[in-house]
Amino acid sequence: GDLSRHRTIIVNDEDAQKVDEGGGEDAAEIDAEQAGDAPDVHDGVVVAMRGLYADVDDGEGVWPCTVRRVLRTRLIEERHPVTVGDKVHFRLEKEREGVQPEGVIHKVEQRRGQLRRMVRNRIHTIVANVDYAVIVSSAAQPSPKPHLIDRYIVTSLHGEITPIVCLNKIDLDEDGSAAAMLDRYRDLGYRTLVTSAVTGAGIEELRELIKDRATVFAGQSGVGKSSLLNAIDPSLELRVGEVVQQTSKGRHTTTTATLIKMDFGGYVVDTPGVKSLDISPVPINEIELYFVEFPEHVPNCKFADCRHIHEAGCAVKAAVEAGGIHPERYESYARIFEEREADYDPAKGNP
Ligand code: GDP
Ligand code: ZN
Repeated sequence: GDLSRHRTIIVNDEDAQKVDEGGGEDAAEIDAEQAGDAPDVHDGVVVAMRGLYADVDDGEGVWPCTVRRVLRTRLIEERHPVTVGDKVHFRLEKEREGVQPEGVIHKVEQRRGQLRRMVRNRIHTIVANVDYAVIVSSAAQPSPKPHLIDRYIVTSLHGEITPIVCLNKIDLDEDGSAAAMLDRYRDLGYRTLVTSAVTGAGIEELRELIKDRATVFAGQSGVGKSSLLNAIDPSLELRVGEVVQQTSKGRHTTTTATLIKMDFGGYVVDTPGVKSLDISPVPINEIELYFVEFPEHVPNCKFADCRHIHEAGCAVKAAVEAGGIHPERYESYARIFEEREADYDPAKGNP
């Protein structure tokens, strides 16, 4: 009756599957919440994981929270029922003299954009609810690497994260060739941005774009990611890459990912030591989907299972010849495909 009408949605790391959750007390909590008479129920965002504790930012502060046992035990397979970026509901315990109050998470909202990586042949969400991936390259020093941009676009799209292709060091683009490369992405329909951390060009636009969102910055070392962060919010750069300690609970230190709050609203995703946009969770047969200009040609390939590598009568390769697909985009596809294929091990069952 009352108990079974209520569901809390828990998201499974692997496939965003809904898990039924009909606990009586949870239902009561949700009722109270909906009635607006539960002043100790908060919502917030997990900004860091520290052992069994999640640090949750509810706008007023960052609270160490544990995960309600009923949520944990329903997800036997799930090592991380809660991860960085999760939007959660929690109850804060009563304040006691000299003891920092703790929260208990009783609900996790459905995840959207996710950064994932492979951990022992399983897909693992490192950060949930990421809105944007700002894919940074530089006009010079180092010169733009379209292949890297394409890889990061594929990974972002697979994680349901909106890619933004950012060309930094525009002050060094003397012959305009880097800007011309960026036009390729704009013409494909991607949001593009031209910036200079030195002259300040495009910084305001970048700030506006990522305000109130969760954004990951990706790109080769030296393209100016830290300089851009510092330009959009000078308090950020210092904190990126360092372990945030203020709510440390006992022996546990933060695991890799954290969200860092921007002064003007929103978060930057920090994944020290971890490739934030890892291509290995992308299934081989999905790669073509993330090259937006490919799917219109695919139905015209001679073989239904054409992989667009060595097959005769391949319409994708014909489109490259005819100028409809940029050769560097095709190169990127072929490289990613061959690399993922070399990686593939049916025995391990990786995607
Ligand atoms: P990261 O490795 O991507 O974080 O790159 P950094 O922010 O450390 O920048 C690498 C170098 O590029 C530094 O020497 C910066 O001063 C320089 N740099 C960053 N942005 C710009 C820019 O817009 N124009 C120019 N000319 N140099 C820049
Ligand atoms: Zn083909």
